[in-house]
Amino acid sequence: MPAHMLQLSSSYTTTTTTIRAPPKGSPQNEGEKLENHPFYSEEDIRPEMKDDIYDPSYQDAEGPRPKFEFVWRNIILMCLLHLGALYGIILVPTCKFYTWLWAYVYYLISGLGITAGAHRLWSHRTYKAWLPLWLFLIFANTMAFQNDVYEWARDHRAHHKFSETDADPHNSRRGFFFSHVGWLLVRKHPAVKEKGATLNLSDLKAEKLVMFQRRYYKPAVLLICFILPTLVPWFYWGETFLNSLCVATFLRYAVVLNATWLVNSAAHLYGYRPYDKNINSRENILVSLGAVGEGFHNYHHTFPYDYSASEYRWHINFTTFFIDCMAVLGLAYD
Ligand SMILES: [Zn+2]
Ligand SMILES: [Zn+2]
Repeated sequence: MPAHMLQLSSSYTTTTTTIRAPPKGSPQNEGEKLENHPFYSEEDIRPEMKDDIYDPSYQDAEGPRPKFEFVWRNIILMCLLHLGALYGIILVPTCKFYTWLWAYVYYLISGLGITAGAHRLWSHRTYKAWLPLWLFLIFANTMAFQNDVYEWARDHRAHHKFSETDADPHNSRRGFFFSHVGWLLVRKHPAVKEKGATLNLSDLKAEKLVMFQRRYYKPAVLLICFILPTLVPWFYWGETFLNSLCVATFLRYAVVLNATWLVNSAAHLYGYRPYDKNINSRENILVSLGAVGEGFHNYHHTFPYDYSASEYRWHINFTTFFIDCMAVLGLAYD
């Protein structure tokens, strides 16, 4: 195990851990000291944020898991959405060019709302944003409709801290289907609720914008995830209503959902583990392609405080490119 990993492992045992900037560049040699790395810093880069660091002291309780309790409303809505999206695939060739472009741009922006927003900004606090970027990300996040930022970040911090246990909302030890979408179709395991309630979410509660989104989430989602993307192609360039609905809305939404879910399923089951082979998350290039840069998942679980979520900056990582552009514009920092 590389020296910097040993350093991190030993830090799990204390709650007053100092998180240091992750080492970049070539992989560490055995025995090389973290302190000697050119990018090593004594500075604690996220003094306020510790609840996304893996806690190996938590283990599953003995005995069988409780039976699944199906949430039929979610099952029916997911089936309808995916049927609409499948029909949308058939309709793609009949769409106008601007409808393809619209659906693609909507996919990219809503993807960023998850990756640069809910994930790297709000769940992990890997960078800070000024108001215009904040507003853009909360809007983009609402376009993506994957639960509001508060709920997304709570589930995600639990996923990191209690990874691959019953307290992990999409525990990949329960199989591909469960970690992909199944977890959204059944009631949460009691351990998810119990351990989730112990997480420190005070930073999110203190953010007025996050709480504002939570308050008006349902009407906002209806408007900008469903109504707006359907009406614009139909109204502005004379696309048929069915094409607008099934391609720009259902198909685009289903693609963003599945791309995100693949990070929880495929990137926890298939791929290499060059940074920490004791955890399940893996490096998966295909997932990175779909999820705009979130497939370097063994790295990400090892160094959750890196805004790039990858050792390789812009390589298959549109989200890092986007955050770097925002930094150049002075809208993202730290
Ligand atoms: Zn994460
Ligand atoms: Zn993960």
